Amino acid sequence: MSEAVFSSRVLDWYARNGRKDLPWQQDPSPYRVWVSEIMLQQTQVSTVIPYFQRFMASFPDVLSLADARVDDVLHHWSGLGYYARARNLHKTAQLIRDEFGGIFPEDYDDVVALPGIGRSTAGAILSLSRNQRHAILDGNVKRVLARFHAVDGWPGKSSVAESLWSHAERHTPTANVADYSQAMMDLGATVCTRTRPACGDCPLVSDCRAHSVGRTADFPGRKEKKAKRLRKTNMALIHDNGAVYLERRPASGIWGGLWSFPELAVDDDPASWCETQVGVRALEIDRWDTVRHSFTHFDLDIAPIAVRVIAASRKVGDGDDHVWYDIDSPQQLGIAAPVSGLIRKLKELETYGPNS
Ligand code: SF4
Repeated sequence: MSEAVFSSRVLDWYARNGRKDLPWQQDPSPYRVWVSEIMLQQTQVSTVIPYFQRFMASFPDVLSLADARVDDVLHHWSGLGYYARARNLHKTAQLIRDEFGGIFPEDYDDVVALPGIGRSTAGAILSLSRNQRHAILDGNVKRVLARFHAVDGWPGKSSVAESLWSHAERHTPTANVADYSQAMMDLGATVCTRTRPACGDCPLVSDCRAHSVGRTADFPGRKEKKAKRLRKTNMALIHDNGAVYLERRPASGIWGGLWSFPELAVDDDPASWCETQVGVRALEIDRWDTVRHSFTHFDLDIAPIAVRVIAASRKVGDGDDHVWYDIDSPQQLGIAAPVSGLIRKLKELETYGPNS
């Protein structure tokens, strides 16, 4: 199949079946496409849509994002996961404010040099928003091309990635690039799906090598699996009268920069820990069932220790790295998902009677 036939089949299919009403397709500025692309990394379209709309309502352009407090940005990201994406987005907006006068650059070399923007994301931003001819190779496109050309091997390996990139570059047409990029992503997301691709509905079926030999499940190749590690932690839910003590996590590591319960070492005594570290006296200690949270590379077992403290013993107020979080009228903070779940549970338990 020639390059021209490949792209025209994909474009014809898109005209009939593609998604054209996604919020970032309306007024597709580089800024809006950038935010959507970052949100869509590791997250499905249906999950991203409401997050994207709220994000745009609060941060409609680069400058409003650059000037926002990082906590506010993280708050809009709460629940989307992979928080480094939000922190990078914020930092990059500040860099665009400071080095490009707040205007998102439209030159490929400038875009790909921005933090958190790789080759495919740069291509997607400029092709989708400005119709510039740049190839893209996100997970969906990789799958289509790996199958169509029967490219062996795991795409995380550089030789395999290079082979896929060269196919992607060759297939990208010189006109209608915006539609073509969207079409390839849609084809991968809706027809050439990870399991059971709908080859009968695919515009490329007549020349697809994986399909012709009945081996669609073998492409793209997989990385050898390592067993997931298990980590364990104790978290202290220090609370009194509807307030719970939270600390800001360090910028690097899991939930970097988000607010969380303090972690205790296995042999820490919760009561004396509270007294020495937070300056509050424990009244009641309740160990809850372990909660498991899965990350990409490991599982984290959280053993929550609810420590009700004597309100009058609380002497430290709020600071840059710790806060007494009001459960009933919460401050706007970026909070890790399992921590939010435990706060909800704390609220549900009828701990907070008027006289408690
Ligand atoms: S024919 Fe099937 S395997 Fe090949 S690209 Fe189309 S959907 Fe994917």
